[in-house]
Amino acid sequence: MALHVHPTISSLKAYSPGKPIVELERELGIREAIKLASNENPWGPSPKALQVLEHASASLHRYPDGGAHDLRQALANKWQVPNEQILVGNGSDEIISLLIKTFLAPGDEAVMADLTFVMYRLSVLGGHGVPVEVPLKNWTHDLSAMIDAVTDRTRLFFICNPNNPTGTMLTGQEIESVLARLPNHVIVVCDEAYYEYVRDAAYPDSVRYVRDGRPVVVLRTFSKIYGLAGLRVGYGITTTEIAGFVNRVRPPFNVNSLAQEAARAALLDDEHVAKSRAMNEAEMAFVEEGLTAMGFTTIPSQANFIYFDVGMDGVAVYEALLRQGVIVRHIRGSMIRVTIGQPTENRRFLEALKHVLPTLSQPAQV
Ligand SMILES: *Cc1c(COP(=O)(O)O)cnc(C)c1O
Repeated sequence: MALHVHPTISSLKAYSPGKPIVELERELGIREAIKLASNENPWGPSPKALQVLEHASASLHRYPDGGAHDLRQALANKWQVPNEQILVGNGSDEIISLLIKTFLAPGDEAVMADLTFVMYRLSVLGGHGVPVEVPLKNWTHDLSAMIDAVTDRTRLFFICNPNNPTGTMLTGQEIESVLARLPNHVIVVCDEAYYEYVRDAAYPDSVRYVRDGRPVVVLRTFSKIYGLAGLRVGYGITTTEIAGFVNRVRPPFNVNSLAQEAARAALLDDEHVAKSRAMNEAEMAFVEEGLTAMGFTTIPSQANFIYFDVGMDGVAVYEALLRQGVIVRHIRGSMIRVTIGQPTENRRFLEALKHVLPTLSQPAQV
């Protein structure tokens, strides 16, 4: 077979998601594995979202509303922008690739941190663009260096805030100084997938930048605190101009009908969001304390996960935890990311870690 595959594509390494629970259980022949690897809401979906699904499924023989009118209107009301400034996608992942498809011609550049959400790099390469990756400074975006990396070919500037996987946050002041310094041809993508978890008052009100007419896309998702990762729905808030261009390449039925209905119901469930947020805050403190007590260095997080240094081969720790039925994420080197789960899951994670450490930290046999 002589397939003609562009070298950019053939050299890509496919995105590797957190290991699913059922897969690990099958491999090890165990039950009750826990997954703290994909920053999902451990408390499940909003009950209000579940309620509307049954009714919505009666119309599954119909195509979805291609314009997702009701969902976009609900989001427009919530964020006080006209509904033509709302984009919805099959997860915010899809909006990321749509932005790349819309604005990046082959050879155009997208600036991003060198340790950030992997999908930026993958989607840019998949779109034959050039990811320009700027190393982190103190575990957070090095904004000055990122601005220095901007050229005439730069089309997109990705800011992941809080940053996945480090959990670090940029302040409104920092974002504003970026906006002031960037040339007008660069679109700033503020990926705020963990927006609802942030506790620091210095966090930006990024929708304001959009209202001010800046070339900004604020990305949010129903996959994290809203607990709807399986339905795939995310959204963007941006200028009418940017939304108009993206809509030219957006597939017409990119958000399915169940997702549209469930997301709209979840959006109104303030109680579920508040509970998830409060539980996360309390449990984050617990996990952080546990890790510190074991002597690990943790990076302070504004999201629903903790990035920490195990001080040894992270793959070995990841694999040892898997054998205990605990799925976390190895990021690179000695760094691991763990999602905050329910209290019982967090206790099990800390105990499993305590249990496997002595077997791992012995010096190599000479
Ligand atoms: C989880 C996540 C997303 C998106 O998720 P979708 O499920 O595609 O909405 C986007 N950005 C970051 C930083 C994330 O962590």
